[in-house]
Amino acid sequence: MRILLVDDSRAVAAVMAARLTILGHEVTQAENGEVGVANFACCPPDLVLMDVEMPVMNGFVAAERIRALEARQDWAWTPIIFLTASDTPENLVTAIEAGGDDFIAKTVPEAVLQAKMKAMARIAGLRKQLFEANYKLEALAHQDGLTGIYNRRYMDLRLDHQWGEALRCGAPFGLLLVDVDNFKRYNDHYGHQAGDDCLKAIAGAIAAVAGQANADGLARDAFVARYGGEEFAVLMPRCAEADYLNVAEKVVEAVRRLEILHALNADWGIVTLSVGGAYVERAEGRLALLFRSADANLYQAKRDGRNRAEVCAVAVESP
Ligand code: GH3
Ligand code: MG
Ligand code: MG
Ligand code: MG
Repeated sequence: MRILLVDDSRAVAAVMAARLTILGHEVTQAENGEVGVANFACCPPDLVLMDVEMPVMNGFVAAERIRALEARQDWAWTPIIFLTASDTPENLVTAIEAGGDDFIAKTVPEAVLQAKMKAMARIAGLRKQLFEANYKLEALAHQDGLTGIYNRRYMDLRLDHQWGEALRCGAPFGLLLVDVDNFKRYNDHYGHQAGDDCLKAIAGAIAAVAGQANADGLARDAFVARYGGEEFAVLMPRCAEADYLNVAEKVVEAVRRLEILHALNADWGIVTLSVGGAYVERAEGRLALLFRSADANLYQAKRDGRNRAEVCAVAVESP
């Protein structure tokens, strides 16, 4: 376990740290409650072992601060054990009242220390499993089952946040709507399973373009989601004007380069995409306008013959 040991007495801390280290734990030390709380905040341990009487901030106040931090940050509960001079019933009652979970005397016999640490390690292990399970559930809830990229639900959540931020700062914002060309024919000709595989490959290629655009500084926090059946969206906050079309063309090109055979897709013989994009230089008004404009551009790209990108700035309505 990672144990945060908070005690102002160097002698006591050194002995306890040595005993815990021998038991296989990783010990971080702090010399008073204030330093202990700061350590907790930047590197949350599995267990806090804390003295009560300390200068600057005593153990009870520090325990209260730690509980407040946990509540604010949505962290899981971390056991706090107070180190006391003696193991009297009064000490236990006070420790629990102060937000601690147990106490041990500084002179605790080795067998008792070992047993308590074993019990705490068990709890820490369970907490870790629970945390990982929650993390996976959350990721699953945000993931599109077929392609593994973000789903529409997550896109809406993140979009709310990104658009809100752009509005507050009057920052640029753009989006691309991507639609596979003649995909119904692809399904009809190659079968639905092949259609699914094709969508997976396309999603991967678009996500790679967005990732590369972020890495190259063309985009910042651009992300891709599956918008509908065979439609994808690329959200692009804070890009330079030329880069919306630039990224849109890279998306079209990336899927062309996959060279997935599609005998019934015009003369190209491979799977292609059409992209419609829209952006504003300064976010204002309603996001729906941006979507409507991107959608109109997507249909323009289809009318112009498919396998291309059509991107333009959205005219801001005069007040
Ligand atoms: P256009 O170039 O005008 O976009 O033609 P299209 O055939 O792609 O357009 P349309 O909207 O008529 O057809 C979209 C097709 O996408 C219909 C549907 O069968 C297919 N599709 C949608 N979701 C999925 C999916 O999850 N898996 C598979 N295999 N096909 C899907
Ligand atoms: Mg002390
Ligand atoms: Mg479509
Ligand atoms: Mg289509």
